[in-house]
Amino acid sequence: MTRKVIFKGSSLELTMVNENFLELIFDSKKRPINVFDQITIDQLMHALSIAESQSNINGLIFSSAKSIFIAGADIDELSQIFKSDIKPHNSRLEIFFDKANTAFNKIESLPFPTVACIGGFALGGGFELCLACDFRILTSKAIVGLPEAKLGIIPGWGGTVRLPRVIGLYKALEWIITGKHKTPNEALSDGAVDAVIDSSKLLEESLNILKAAFDEKSGYKRRRDQKQKPLLIETTKIIETKEFFSKYISSKIGSYYPAPSVALEVICGTINVSQDEARTTEYEAFQKLTKTPECRSLMGLFMNDQYVISKAKRLSKNCLVTVSHVTVLGAGIMGGGIAYQNAIKGFSVLMKDISDSSLLMGINEVKKLLTKSISIDKISNSDAESVLSRIKPSINYEDTKKTTIVIEAIVENKTMKSEVLTEIEKQLPTNAILSSNTSTISIDFLASNLIHPDRFCGIHFFNPVHVMPLVEIVRGKRTSNETIELAVAHAIKLGKKPIVVNDCPGFLVNRILFPAIFAFDMMIVDGADFQQIDSAIEDWGWPMGPAYLVDVIGLDTAISCFATIISGYPNRMKDVYDVSPTCILCEKNRFGQKNKQGFYGYVEDDKGKPKKYFDKKVLQILKPYIQGSDLSDYKFDAVTILHRFMIPMCIEAALCLEEGIVDSPSEIDMSIVYGLGFPAFRGGLLRWMDEIGLNNFCKLADKFAHLGNLYRPTSKMRKMARENIKYYSF
Ligand code: NAD
Repeated sequence: MTRKVIFKGSSLELTMVNENFLELIFDSKKRPINVFDQITIDQLMHALSIAESQSNINGLIFSSAKSIFIAGADIDELSQIFKSDIKPHNSRLEIFFDKANTAFNKIESLPFPTVACIGGFALGGGFELCLACDFRILTSKAIVGLPEAKLGIIPGWGGTVRLPRVIGLYKALEWIITGKHKTPNEALSDGAVDAVIDSSKLLEESLNILKAAFDEKSGYKRRRDQKQKPLLIETTKIIETKEFFSKYISSKIGSYYPAPSVALEVICGTINVSQDEARTTEYEAFQKLTKTPECRSLMGLFMNDQYVISKAKRLSKNCLVTVSHVTVLGAGIMGGGIAYQNAIKGFSVLMKDISDSSLLMGINEVKKLLTKSISIDKISNSDAESVLSRIKPSINYEDTKKTTIVIEAIVENKTMKSEVLTEIEKQLPTNAILSSNTSTISIDFLASNLIHPDRFCGIHFFNPVHVMPLVEIVRGKRTSNETIELAVAHAIKLGKKPIVVNDCPGFLVNRILFPAIFAFDMMIVDGADFQQIDSAIEDWGWPMGPAYLVDVIGLDTAISCFATIISGYPNRMKDVYDVSPTCILCEKNRFGQKNKQGFYGYVEDDKGKPKKYFDKKVLQILKPYIQGSDLSDYKFDAVTILHRFMIPMCIEAALCLEEGIVDSPSEIDMSIVYGLGFPAFRGGLLRWMDEIGLNNFCKLADKFAHLGNLYRPTSKMRKMARENIKYYSF
């Protein structure tokens, strides 16, 4: 095979292959992956003009020199463009999108056939380029899709126009509305690609396809024609499909995310018009979505996620320790979940508790999770058996010489934890690290009696462990870098998103959450109905309101954290009311879901899941303690509830940043999203304050000044408000 480079840019090169074929190879010299940024689009235009001017060309291959084909648009660059543009026309966005659309159209008008060879991720703009090609072939490692809706936008480079013309209306709506990544077999069976090929044969097969297409002529031109013309689908069919997807969006995605509904409107409205007309509609809808707060939040979240992932990789890259065996102390809600997560990821686990009955509960929890995974075909019966066989329940310390990581998850009690940690430390090999899953107890306090405080840190999982992505890695004053490296590396191996935080009472997430739980308790004492509080918070987008959340955590577990937070931050928490409905219910043995009675009562549904119901006993218990509002015009409307709940959280989040508990707004917002399920379309607490404006936030907080320091913004926040400074620059 002969090759001659005829254009070389920083993002791609154009090569003549065997004198009659061209290969356009994406290979960013600036980045580890290929993305579509303005430079790449400019170079693509230039390379296509060169390709067009060559004589005797029988076809053009699009490929990548990297394992990723094209990951999509450059989100950092795109979000800056979205932000900078005020006017809808002749804007930076329109110019950029025009260029890309012109380039993709040019691909469809070249005087020879084209094929996209996809060996890795081809997402968003990357797959839109593939759709502009006449043929698409991929390897078994490829992943394709149009995930734009997850970023609050719709495909804007012809994706909503070409995909339905390639795979039909129904399937295209499914791809674009869900934004799901598609495996090679899914893409093949939907007709979005032509073949799945062994990676060693990708080039050879591309040349065969191009040769055959060039010789036959009519085939590839027919494909181009199909993408240009209206699909001519009957109106009744379009209405039926639209109704189906409207229902899907309201039941599965919800009304908080505008992009899926816009995609539905655009695609159904343009299916029967020409490509040119359809692309104009696509761009107009796209451009409007770029101005929504949901788009800003979701794009911001994407960038925050990338930041958190790359920071964790950086922090763990020097870790040389291999973990094979893990000891989990405690077989309760968390211990059982932590043992399961380790075993499912291939680690052998000793699960140690003090009684056989507790161990049985822990093992039963693991079995329940495995049965569920089997029922949804996530795991086979034999794999489930191997997972179970990797967990050894015991009331004794065994195999501790083999252990590399100990994760303590016994009851939230300072003295008991200290005793257990000092006891096991003596039995560990020298390369092992010790950690605690404590929710609130200071890591420095727990380290104070240890022989090797440098080999101790917090590894704080969230409930339920197998679902929640966040793991807080808590660095004590004496924790070594090697300990942090190993803890972060292990959390990544468990499939989690580790965020390193400095030690403080409650660490990051609980420190931020508990002021809101106090606010919730205070609202009830002031006369608010806890069900109304839950509704207001859930309507705003939280996955559950505080009454239900406390029931899930366990009222006993929650109140064991109260004291730590109140004594840890006396200046602000001194204003929390002495009367706490959560404590009162707990004193009446209402522990939440764990004993089927908390703020709500619980029964098991058909699937064995706890289903809440209103239990009027709760109101009888709480009635003597409810004061009613001390302000005559004070009303518990949904907005008041929301602000009373959110403001203390936001102030605590700001303080965590000011005190250096973490380094960046990104880590705070991602922790709240990953650890508490904060609504993604709102981007995070700091993003929300940016969105409403810090000045407005401070004014809102001042309305509640009578409730004390929980509602007092910091002086830095007020300064930022005065100077119009935001937490994020993107
Ligand atoms: P749990 O009450 O469900 O389980 C605690 C287990 O520890 C019990 O099985 C108990 O028998 C066992 N235990 C007590 N003393 C022991 C000892 N000396 N050695 C071994 N086992 C012992 O509690 P949980 O909810 O699983 O919480 C455990 C830890 O995780 C606590 O520190 C808690 O703060 C933290 N945590 C809890 C949650 C949550 O939502 N429940 C979330 C994150 C972190």
